[in-house]
Amino acid sequence: MGLPWLAQMRRRHGWSAVAFILCHEIGHTVDFTPVAGQWTRELYADEIAGMLLAALGLPLDGAVHFLAAEANCLPCTSPPPAAARIVAVARGYRQMLAQTMLS
Ligand SMILES: [Zn+2]
Repeated sequence: MGLPWLAQMRRRHGWSAVAFILCHEIGHTVDFTPVAGQWTRELYADEIAGMLLAALGLPLDGAVHFLAAEANCLPCTSPPPAAARIVAVARGYRQMLAQTMLS
């Protein structure tokens, strides 16, 4: 991936897509699940990314646009389907918005 790839994603899908990509990688760093399959780990990172986007006040549309268009082209060996990833990121986003509204 690297900066040229991120710049390409920004041109295609906007800054909020870049934010999603980086938040997804942060999601992987807080995944302490001892035994989980690759899809579970990817969907977990997507959910954490959704939570972070909401917490940062960033829109969800870049993530959805990016996942719908690029999910099958990512350098993962076998990424989950785009629809499952969009559901995961939206779930995290909703959870954070709900927590923020209750606090
Ligand atoms: Zn990932």
